[in-house]
Amino acid sequence: GACVALTVAACGSSSGGGGSSNASGGSSVKGKIGVILPDTKSSARWATADQPLLEKAFKAAGVQYDIQNAQGDATQMQTIADQMITNGVTVLMITNLDSGSGKAIEDKAKAQGVATIDYDRLTLGGSAQYYVSFDNVAVGKLQGQGLVDCLKASGAQKPIVAELNGSPTDNNATLFKQGYDSVLDPLYKDGTLVKGPDQSVPDWDNQQGGTIFEQMLTQQPKIGGVLTANDGLGGAALAILAKNGLNGKVPVTGQDATTPALQNILDGDQCMTVYKAVKKEADAASALAISLVKGQKGDAPQTIHDPTGNRDVPSVLLQPVAITKSNVKFVVDDGYVTKAELCTGK
Ligand code: BGC
Repeated sequence: GACVALTVAACGSSSGGGGSSNASGGSSVKGKIGVILPDTKSSARWATADQPLLEKAFKAAGVQYDIQNAQGDATQMQTIADQMITNGVTVLMITNLDSGSGKAIEDKAKAQGVATIDYDRLTLGGSAQYYVSFDNVAVGKLQGQGLVDCLKASGAQKPIVAELNGSPTDNNATLFKQGYDSVLDPLYKDGTLVKGPDQSVPDWDNQQGGTIFEQMLTQQPKIGGVLTANDGLGGAALAILAKNGLNGKVPVTGQDATTPALQNILDGDQCMTVYKAVKKEADAASALAISLVKGQKGDAPQTIHDPTGNRDVPSVLLQPVAITKSNVKFVVDDGYVTKAELCTGK
């Protein structure tokens, strides 16, 4: 089926995973870089992409590093941060679980002379020196436009759109929503689309997302399209749609280009996902961390405004790419997933 098509489409191009070997072994840099990732459940990316890519970058630079995962527990994140600083970390990079706990970690680090970097999620009111992420409003716009395009293609008349948003404590979820609502709101207004249920999912918890979506569908069985903020939530909504014989009939969006989501796209069950080249993000963030650990200034050409802290944070903001059935090949060619992984069990 679809996988055969992909095999044909993706054939012939193999981007040979750029083995960066840096001859800087036995570095004389004194400090150490600590990284704390948020969890392993809200998205596959943290464990399967971010962690190994950051490791690779630090190894190539020959710097000392320690990468850990807070497993969704903000108290645990603070404990890990404290231990890292005790163990000699001089640069700390975090993906916060909420801005309050992130700020506490950053302010405490700062008081001890440790520089901090916000990785992927901005800590509102925090004190990070740099922020590395994607243009997250642009991510949301791609999701909104992707859903609109899928609904148009299906010919649905005045479809009811449900929105299943990310965690209310993740500033990215706010930015994604800002992006997709900027596309959807005018269409609700002019009657092209009908606004249906709109809810956030605490901690991006996929299971809870499924429960919330099932309630939405019970209350409004005519939901015609679902804006789900990432692939985990998309998969949760799809499972409920499938239970009701509606998969493939009701377009669902996503984000992160996870393997199951790409498979659902090839199968025609998921409308689209947003691919964020995590390698570029990890490379940009590790480059900044490495500069800081060497006592140098990093290169962050953009800024993001933190409305809570009322400050502009020097940033690297990368561009996301919309992925539909017609360009799944892009993700394969970029080396994020292999054809074999996509076609397993197909
Ligand atoms: C990230 C997404 C991810 C979500 C859940 C967001 O902050 O930008 O890539 O899907 O968190 O982990």
